[in-house]
Amino acid sequence: MHSGAPVNLRILPATAGRGIVFRRVDLDDFEIEAVGRNLARVSYATSLQKKGVLISTTEHLLSAFIGMGLDNAIVELDNLELPILDGSAQPFVDLLLEAGLKQQRKKRSYLRILRAIEVREGNKSIAVYPASGYTVAYNIQFATPIGEQSFEIDLSRDLYRKEVSPARTFGFLREEKAMRNLGLIRGASEANVIVLTEEGVKNGPLRFTDEFVRHKTLDLIGDLALLGKQIIGRIVADRAGHAMHTALVSKLLRDRTLWEETTEIGSAPERPESREIHAAVPREA
Ligand SMILES: [Zn+2]
Repeated sequence: MHSGAPVNLRILPATAGRGIVFRRVDLDDFEIEAVGRNLARVSYATSLQKKGVLISTTEHLLSAFIGMGLDNAIVELDNLELPILDGSAQPFVDLLLEAGLKQQRKKRSYLRILRAIEVREGNKSIAVYPASGYTVAYNIQFATPIGEQSFEIDLSRDLYRKEVSPARTFGFLREEKAMRNLGLIRGASEANVIVLTEEGVKNGPLRFTDEFVRHKTLDLIGDLALLGKQIIGRIVADRAGHAMHTALVSKLLRDRTLWEETTEIGSAPERPESREIHAAVPREA
């Protein structure tokens, strides 16, 4: 999408407890774990960095992994950016289904949210609350033709594949030149981005009338995968983006009183106290 570089990707099984690990086969099999401590610069996509080695645009694949319940895998790449494919997570989901998933003997470890936390910048915010399952609610407000859209999904109900994974990334044609001048979207085309003009969708039809907010939900699920565990909690995002998603990841990882690790899914204790944190996060489109 951004580098325009050709890339080969291969997903391999990993032992229980290994988590998701990216491996750069072009750099002596250098490995980067998909966890918050390896978070790199985040603007139009989410990137990981370790010892100067970069893996970029990780969010769609990690979203597919969470959505399909895949906890452990090695992801081999021979370049720095994951393939964009059709701009959604559906091709990754199809590959996973084709290969098949295997249940491992070790119990899954969840990250259960114990207390509310919010990251806010102006009218943008993202918050997480204790809950009994994993639900995500997203609200977006963009220029026409998108306008305001809201979407909510209960990920414990196996809805990801049909309701979220097919939603594609999108961009405004009027921003294309500026982004290309920044060295971005070198691999973008009408085959992998929903292109928007003032008149509407240039390369329709849409897969959902609210495909835009569904894609933001897809991105959020992928970015929160950097917590390294499946979440038990409720996420509410309003006009957020990659920078705010990953700011929430960093905040959660820094404060161990906000969550607990558990292998049991049960109802979370009600904790009325909430903490609001005003954080400066980089602006993004
Ligand atoms: Zn995306």
